Formats: sequence, structure tokens, C-alpha cells
Amino acid sequence: MPYASSFPPLDIPEKVDLWTLLLGDRQRDFPPTKDILTCAETGRSYSWANLRSASIEFGRGLQAVWEWKKGDVLAFYTPNSIDTPVLTLGALWAGGTVSPANPLYTVDELAFQLRNSGAKGLVTQLANLDTAVAAAQKANLPLDHIILLGPDRDPNARTRHFTSILRHGSEDHNDNAKPTVNPRTDIAFLVYSSGTTGLPKGVCLTHRNMVANILQASYVEGSQWRSRGGVDGRGDKQLGVLPFFHIYGLTCGVLLSVYEGWQLVVLTAGPRGFDLERALRAVERYRVTFAYVPPPVVLALSKHPAVGRYDLTSLKVLHSGAAPLTRELTEAVWNRLRVPVKQGFGLSETSAVVCCQVVDEWAKFMGSVGKLMPNMEAKIVTEDGREVAEGEAGELWLKGPNVFPGYFKNPERTKEAFSADGFFKTGDVFRRDKHGNFYCVDRLKELIKYNGFPVPPAELEGVLIGHQEVADACVIGIEDTAKATEVPRAYVVLRGGVEASEAKAQELVDWVASQVAPHKKLRGGIRFVDQVPKSPSGKVLRRVMREQAKKEQRVS
Ligand code: AMP
Repeated sequence: MPYASSFPPLDIPEKVDLWTLLLGDRQRDFPPTKDILTCAETGRSYSWANLRSASIEFGRGLQAVWEWKKGDVLAFYTPNSIDTPVLTLGALWAGGTVSPANPLYTVDELAFQLRNSGAKGLVTQLANLDTAVAAAQKANLPLDHIILLGPDRDPNARTRHFTSILRHGSEDHNDNAKPTVNPRTDIAFLVYSSGTTGLPKGVCLTHRNMVANILQASYVEGSQWRSRGGVDGRGDKQLGVLPFFHIYGLTCGVLLSVYEGWQLVVLTAGPRGFDLERALRAVERYRVTFAYVPPPVVLALSKHPAVGRYDLTSLKVLHSGAAPLTRELTEAVWNRLRVPVKQGFGLSETSAVVCCQVVDEWAKFMGSVGKLMPNMEAKIVTEDGREVAEGEAGELWLKGPNVFPGYFKNPERTKEAFSADGFFKTGDVFRRDKHGNFYCVDRLKELIKYNGFPVPPAELEGVLIGHQEVADACVIGIEDTAKATEVPRAYVVLRGGVEASEAKAQELVDWVASQVAPHKKLRGGIRFVDQVPKSPSGKVLRRVMREQAKKEQRVS
């Protein structure tokens, strides 16, 4: 028998689209003038009411300038900004689909997503413009379909600034222009994930998937905090540190804040990505009460000397997700800051949240990712799909209103992702205890997570094999415990006549780095081998290499 959620079932409305859930008319327990999005650097804010009106203006503006139609796709290629949610929700208001991409993607990585999603427009910032233009050209996207965010204008005036679209939208006051969305079938987000195998694929998340996950997460996250008087009463403030292009930051950061009326203090990325000092300064300045983070941020809080220089006493709780969190890190943060770190688990394919610890249980069930969200069912199964006994480990299979319907235009991969009885096969290995707590113990699938960011090994193998001196390659993740993350390592077979050496390994590491986004760099190095283990059908047996790497790590 599948495990049912131990939370009572929720009523998930059938006819409500995501924009209407977040910004439509409903009774709210916070005033419309409450600030919801605040830029940590400048203090500029959108109240809930401003966010609502600006999103409508942007949606109407899209209809005016591009004859935007229901189902059109708007891609995003931008670091976090308080304007991103306005444009995201505006595209949804106009019946569109939003497809966010990592702002560190290379031209080819972005061009792939633009082509695959069939994007009609692309939102970016000046710092990313050159790459965006090159990718748009490769994907045959007209340059005047690039929209610029932020204070800067395009010096070559090839693109549009988003405020010009807002202006068009503000001239029109026809509320009936909002297309009718079918929440069950219309896609709100098209996020990219490699799933259990292969190259990135578009994960279709319908309006109903997203509405369900907001209500599920709100029930578990929002209500427990409200029942305790909130994390900090009505003044809950979340640190917006997760990237908005990833489903974790999108759902738990942006959308849940708009629904709950939390103030999201948005960090803009530093020149080298996440900047701990900026984060600490923002916590102190805005009296931030909680944050959703990946494990490397927990690590930094446990160890980094800068932590001692800021007043972090407003922080009441942290929630870690996206990758495994060790007990040692949880304890280290508690010992240093007296802040509980609870854990959750989710995937792009489940609109994010699947399991979540309630704050009262973080210490009692340390290491667990918590209980199953309301309205979800789970099975833990053996390789041949039989359910294991309670407490034993097996692959986690899931069903629920937040589970995606399939990969975009990819019926083959969609079929493989589901069991005959309609469960989504996560590729993660789990066990469950008798109290209903779930524990993520291993990963069957190929995916590597660097600092919570997905790295598809097949993609790196493809890049390596494209090098003239490489005959074959196998990429796996290895643990870097000092940094609380996995790092990608390649096992490479060189072509005949090419000599294996440390210099050659470094040359290949550098070459890969020049071809991919920074989180995909081969930080675990390169090892030269005579052959890559393969199944009789020619499939790379990454598991064999992973076992070997684990043995090597134990010996060293
Ligand atoms: P993504 O689609 O990028 O969100 O990646 C989802 C994958 O991240 C899951 O299938 C897991 O392998 C991994 N993951 C997410 N949360 C956790 C967690 N708390 N512990 C271990 N792995 C996690």
C-alpha cells in the first residue's frame, strides 16, 4: 500500500490559475500596501498592490507590443531582481508560460533552451546582454524580442526596456483581456532538468501543479509558523538568496512569499555569485526572520568568520533543501547561532516541495527531510517496483497534484518517468520511519548537484567527447565534504598517441570550463582510464565508476 500523507487533505481548487491565486481577489490577512519584494541593496520595494498592478500592466503591454497569445513562452536569463517576479506574473496574467534559465549559462546552453521551449521573448539584464543576443541569434529570436530589466538601457538600442512595455500596458484598462486559463492543462512554468538520465528536458508545470504546491507548502510552512504567532508575528521577512530560475527559489522564495504576504528581501548576486557578506548585511539591516537555503549556505553560517561580525538575532529558522544536509552542519549552526535548521526535499518535476520538516521536529528527527506534503502518496520500491518493508531503502515514487504531467514534447522520456500505475519515479533512494519521516539516503539517477545546482553528467560527457583528443568519457559526482557539496569528476579515455599527464588533465578541465556554465566545471578533476565501463547496449555505467570513486576516497 502506498504511504499517504499524514497531513489532512487540502481542497485544491480546480478552476483557479496561479496568477489568480496569488494576485486575484480573496480574503488576505495582510494589507495590500504591505511590501512583498524589497531590493536588499537599494531598499526599493513593491507592495502586494503594486506588484498586482505592475504585473497586469506588463501582461497588457505584452499583448500590445507582440500580439502575445495564450501559451506563448517568455524565457528569463537574469540574476535575481525585484522586477523579475513582476514580469513573471505579468506573463502568467497574459496566459503565457515562463521558462527561466540560469543567468550563468553559455550561449549554447541558453540557445538550446530558447529553441527547445520555442520562446517568443527573452528577459535579461545589461550584464548578460551579449550572451543573450548571441543565443537569440542562434535560436532565430528577433532582437527586439529581448526585454531588458534593471536600471540600464541597451547602448545599441537593439532591445526593449521593460518599462516601455509597462507603459503600453498602462494605457489600456481592459481587465477582460486576461485570457481564460485551464489550470489542468495550461503550462505556467517550463523549467529545465535532466530528470533521471540524459540531457536537460523541459519540465511542464501546469497552473494546477503550482497552485497545489503553494497551498501544500503554505499549509505546512505557513500554518505552523502562524500557529506559533508566525516566525516573528506578521513581520515575517524572508531572505531572497535562492536563484529565482530554480524551482526551489521560484516556489518557496517568490511565489510562497506573495501568497503568504511575507516580505522577500531580494539579494542581487555579487560579481562572483553568492556573496555571504551581502547576505549577512541584509539579515542585519532588514531584521530578516528566515531563509530557504542550500547546504553550502548552512556550511558558511557554521564556519565563516564574517558571521560573527553581524547581528543575526532576528533569524528564527533556516530551511535547507536542494541537496543533502549533514547532521554535523545542522548541529554546528545550532551551536553557533542557536538557529534551528530544518530540511525539505523536492524536485523540479514536483513543482518543488515533496517533504518538509516542521520546525518543532528539526532536532527530534535530525537528518530527515520531514513528512510528505498533504494530498501526496509515496511508494518506496525495489528495482522491480515492489514496495519494501517499512524502514528499508528503495526508490521513491510519488503521486499528487503537484507532480508534473510530463516532459515538453518528449513522450518517450515522459513514459519512462512514470510507473504503470501513474507514480513518478524520482531516481532518489529513500527510507521512511514509523513516524512518517522520510530520509533521502542515496541517488540512483545520474544527476550531480553542485551547491544545489543540477549538473547533468551526460552533458559534460558530450562536451568532453567533442574534444579532438578524447575518445570516451564518464562523468560522476564525488563528495567534497569540506564544501558540503558534490563536485563533477570525469574519467577520460584519451585517443591513441595522446599522452596522459597532469598538464593534459588541467588542459581538459580548462577547456570544459570554457564551454559550460561555472557550476558545471570539473571541480573534481580528471582521471585517465583505459576504458569507460559500459553495458552490453553501450550505456555508460556511471554507478560502477561511483563505487570505484567511493573506494578510492575511503583509501585516501
Ligand atoms: P532539482 O530538479 O534541480 O530540484 O533537483 C532535484 C534533486 O535534488 C532530487 O531528485 C534530489 O536528488 C536532490 N535533492 C533535493 N533536495 C534534497 C535533499 N534535501 N537531500 C538530498 N537530495 C536532495
